[in-house]
Amino acid sequence: MKIVCIGWNYKSHVSELKSKLPEVPTIFFKPSSCMIKDGEAIIIPKGVTNVQHEVELALIYGKDCKHVSEADAMGYVSHLAVFNDVSARDLQWKARDEGNTWDLAKGMDTFGPMSDPVPVTAVENVQDLNLKLTVNGEVRQEGNTSNMIFTVPWLISYVSRYITMEEGDILITGTPEGVSEIKPGDVVCAIIDGVGSVTNPVQSE
Ligand code: MG
Repeated sequence: MKIVCIGWNYKSHVSELKSKLPEVPTIFFKPSSCMIKDGEAIIIPKGVTNVQHEVELALIYGKDCKHVSEADAMGYVSHLAVFNDVSARDLQWKARDEGNTWDLAKGMDTFGPMSDPVPVTAVENVQDLNLKLTVNGEVRQEGNTSNMIFTVPWLISYVSRYITMEEGDILITGTPEGVSEIKPGDVVCAIIDGVGSVTNPVQSE
């Protein structure tokens, strides 16, 4: 199983991290070993100094998907979930400045909390979902999937040009503004109305 991730998909998040507006999405991967469930701890490894949260809508594929049109795209998604794309921002920026990949910054153990999936039929419109993330009950991120630069069906179609998404694979679709640092002792809760939530304490190694 793989997790394909979209970077820079909300205009507001692009401007907050001072990147220029993309013509095509940035694609990267997280390993399945990063995933944890509701209630499990996000663990910050020794020497990692700036870990941040990113609430995202996750699409879970119900069948293999290759070369599909935008019109057919949603037929390949069986479930939705809330995903927290936890990121070691210190390592991510260092990698970016050195022209290296983000893999380590994004792929560490416990850096992929995900809620229990719900059937895609549970929501009326994937392009009108409220996302929210709280740290210790305080709201840090708020957004709506209507503000995506690249829509969900467009992303499914785009990825399918290059990568076969297999049954059970996950596509995470980017985060809105408000990313911030999380520290040991914090409790992080990512929420999407109508989809669910995932709450995780943060610990040091
Ligand atoms: Mg992300």
